[in-house]
Amino acid sequence: NKFEQLGLNESLLKAINDLGFENPSEVQEKAIPLLLEKDTDIVALAQTGTGKTAAFGFPLIQKIDPDNKNTQALILSPTRELCLQITNEIKLYSKYIKGINTVAVYGGASITEQARDIKRGAQIIVATPGRMQDMINRGLVNISKIDFCILDEADEMLNMGFYDDIVNILSTSPDDKSTWLFSATMPQEVARIAKEFMRKPLEITV
Ligand code: AMP
Repeated sequence: NKFEQLGLNESLLKAINDLGFENPSEVQEKAIPLLLEKDTDIVALAQTGTGKTAAFGFPLIQKIDPDNKNTQALILSPTRELCLQITNEIKLYSKYIKGINTVAVYGGASITEQARDIKRGAQIIVATPGRMQDMINRGLVNISKIDFCILDEADEMLNMGFYDDIVNILSTSPDDKSTWLFSATMPQEVARIAKEFMRKPLEITV
């Protein structure tokens, strides 16, 4: 099992085994060792279906401190469906690690319930940009201590008009966090986000 050579811990390897993943995909092989070893920003050009959720999810889970109940990571994704899918995957990947809570935040559902879930402790929040910005504005979420921000399907989020929300969210989070950007294409708006909000990102292409 080549996952063992990527530097992942026993809890993750056990979860990966349960999922029946036999070998890492290309983006996983490239991103996982890099994200585990280095405190770096990355821009990864990868389509959906390439295993990118695990490419950022595995190293993220390994780097989250389960004993710290602050929100440590924010994953932004374009749609409610994708939000729920990522949340579900993260929960499967982290099932052998006690104390990691992942909460999905998206529009069209009760903001009160989502705020309550966050209040109970959510180290990882998976959110659509509009609802996230709304919750920040209302003081229902605190991202002042996040160590990681992941922009998933960045091109799609920008196509959907989330540029301002993304910029606001990135601006209100710490400068010294790591940002991992995933996108199928690299239009100008995505390049602009990378240039303005990321620290010399390493590039991965699959
Ligand atoms: P994604 O590109 O993250 O949406 O992943 C696409 C699908 O591939 C998901 O259903 C994953 O559970 C699955 N998957 C991810 N990585 C692997 C792997 N290394 N081996 C087999 N299936 C995988």
